[in-house]
Amino acid sequence: MGVPVPDSVDYILLDEATIRNRVQEMADQISADYHGIRNEDFLLVGVLKGSFIFLADLARCLTVPHRVDFIALSSYADKAEATGSVRLIMDTRADVAGRHVLIVEDILDTGYTLRYLYRLFGAREPASLRTAALLSKPDRHKVEVPLDYLGFSIPDAWVVGYGLDYADRFRTLPYIAALKPRVYQK
Ligand code: 5GP
Repeated sequence: MGVPVPDSVDYILLDEATIRNRVQEMADQISADYHGIRNEDFLLVGVLKGSFIFLADLARCLTVPHRVDFIALSSYADKAEATGSVRLIMDTRADVAGRHVLIVEDILDTGYTLRYLYRLFGAREPASLRTAALLSKPDRHKVEVPLDYLGFSIPDAWVVGYGLDYADRFRTLPYIAALKPRVYQK
């Protein structure tokens, strides 16, 4: 039963039930924090592509009304290394001015991406600005970024599944797994 574990996978870090429970807890916390908010005022902004499954699950667990939008940034060009340069590929459709914005990121690695987004949205006069990330690799952080909601702190490895890819593969694995280092260390 289930999808066979790919040969490139080193080990499963977070299984489906663990992810589901934590996403529910995060949603409960967010719902409590934004209690009483009006639908048109609360905007979840998912960072494509990696956050699409996390955002879909998180949004469906929320009990507060909200709108969903997306932003797309440049990736690491299929390599597991950060350059510090981030490029905007697709902007949100919704106007963020005067809205309560929650940026939803898949993983915080160096922190450059979230810092870039925080500055970008911060300059657009939102009513408030918060950040959520499913994963964070504290050993890899290079810059300080405010993170309001975090799913899991994980060790320094390249992880895939639950929306996260390597060279656009492995995104739809239902769990989060560390790849064998030989796959991404060339
Ligand atoms: P940062 O700018 O914080 O270094 O990197 C954030 C982005 O790098 C994430 O949104 C994600 O796209 C990518 N990234 C960083 N670490 C990983 C990882 O272990 N696995 C995957 N699939 N993407 C990662």
